[in-house]
Amino acid sequence: TDLPPSDAVDAASESNRKVPSELISREVARRRTFGIISHPDAGKTTLTEKLLLFSGAIQLAGTVKARKSGRHATSDWMEIEKQRGISVASSVMQFEYREHVVNLLDTPGHQDFSEDTYRVLTAVDSALMVIDAAKGVEEQTIKLLNVCRMRDTPILTFMNKLDRECRDPLELLDEVESVLKIQCAPVTWPIGMGKNFRGVYHLLRDEILLFKAGEERADQEFEVVKGIDNPRLAEMFPLEIEQLKMEVELVHGASHPFDLEEFLAGRQTPVFFGSAINNFGVREILNALLDWAPAPRNRDATVRAVEPNEEPFSGFVFKIQANMDPAHRDRIAFLRVCSGHFERGMKIKHLRLGREIKVSSVVTFMASSREQVEEAYAGDIIGLPNHGNMQIGDSFSEGEMLQFTGIPYFAPDFFRSVRIRNPLKIKQLHKGLQQLGEEGAVQVFKPVHGGDLILGAVGVLQFEVVASRLLNEYGVDAVFEGTSISSARWISCEDKRALADFEKSSAGANIAFDASGNMAYLATSGVNLKLTQERWPQLTFHATREHA
Ligand code: GDP
Repeated sequence: TDLPPSDAVDAASESNRKVPSELISREVARRRTFGIISHPDAGKTTLTEKLLLFSGAIQLAGTVKARKSGRHATSDWMEIEKQRGISVASSVMQFEYREHVVNLLDTPGHQDFSEDTYRVLTAVDSALMVIDAAKGVEEQTIKLLNVCRMRDTPILTFMNKLDRECRDPLELLDEVESVLKIQCAPVTWPIGMGKNFRGVYHLLRDEILLFKAGEERADQEFEVVKGIDNPRLAEMFPLEIEQLKMEVELVHGASHPFDLEEFLAGRQTPVFFGSAINNFGVREILNALLDWAPAPRNRDATVRAVEPNEEPFSGFVFKIQANMDPAHRDRIAFLRVCSGHFERGMKIKHLRLGREIKVSSVVTFMASSREQVEEAYAGDIIGLPNHGNMQIGDSFSEGEMLQFTGIPYFAPDFFRSVRIRNPLKIKQLHKGLQQLGEEGAVQVFKPVHGGDLILGAVGVLQFEVVASRLLNEYGVDAVFEGTSISSARWISCEDKRALADFEKSSAGANIAFDASGNMAYLATSGVNLKLTQERWPQLTFHATREHA
């Protein structure tokens, strides 16, 4: 890649208004950008709604819920199309609380679980893990946490639904530690559960927050009783308080005290108990997020690390979403600001294309509506309308060549082979899949030895979306069929001869190239993958790959 001529850089930065670096630093310091990771039904939507209530961004509970039920009512593509506006708006929710600007990035689950869900996590600075305390650690939580771990993202944990019969809290912590391999530092501890849920004990403040059911308002105050030995408690619920004292002793002995450094390094998670639906324990989580979770930090680029309070603007695209209007092929590219100050109308440089663009229409995301953004700082997300010239992982700056790293593609879990009814449309099929592949809607694999193209996805809805978009946008009627493939791994190897041998061997039938020309092995089973890895120790099999 060529460096741009230096006068181009100067021209770009001169047309952009300068903002003093102290202002940038101040704005960065008060920003928190996070996502919620959870298994479906653990309470992500409910919790999101309560967080928005606190900020005053929404007045009444039920708003987010309504959006969600719309989104999940059907997987029919026309419906999805209709819902796109909603899902664009709820993809990022920005709100203010206690002088902070909070960006909450949605991580779609259920049927709309897709690669986006994973990649959103590359754009956050921390994550809130919600666990259904009756169920414990579930499958999707494990997957999402593993993605967070790639960047050592700090994780806060909320054990939800304590108003129901739950599992033993100590056992829950044990499960988090052993399954997710992260140390737990309980910050609040539940007093009873289900019908006998009395509240939580704040271990660091020695305070008891008394539970009251059914609050839908943000200004709800829960009564606080100071001190675990307070005689009032023994009067109110003698049995539970005895139990609490025993457990707290155990907790102090057996678990780890909260350690900010360990949390920031992604090795320890502070754990809170509560009930999202009752708005109980939610404020504690929000405060912890502001007090402990990190403001935007340095981001790695190929040439150097970029600091959030550097004056020149920079950022990268982590998600592309087809726009609402099917008549136009517009898409919205979601860009995470990594440094500097963004202002509507400014000129920024699309580094892969080496082209300057003037950004006059941009979308920002307030929890209450979709608004025109005026300005943004590191940690914020802006939506750039785009006519198909942006890809996942594209970097933007005021001129400096900075390719941000750490925006991965993930090995798919689901596969389909693709055929077309009308062979004359083969070119359109390839073009469509190439573009949809670049956009990150699906992964496309071309077998080395020929045969049908193979599509890969991490959520099955991705196939439906692709089939429908191929038809509507490229006029291709494609048939998707099941395949015997169960997983994919990208292959790398220093030794070119070994690679060539691998291609020629019996494994060759399962080798394919992805849309960016990377070699991948498509395994037919876990055993098949394991045997192939054992047979070819010179090769490395990767479950993720970086943006080319
Ligand atoms: P999501 O799929 O993770 O977004 O989960 P939702 O927020 O939609 O919650 C799933 C179900 O659990 C809904 O029926 C909620 O009403 C319910 N729920 C959420 N939080 C609580 C809670 O604190 N207590 C109880 N009893 N139910 C809850």
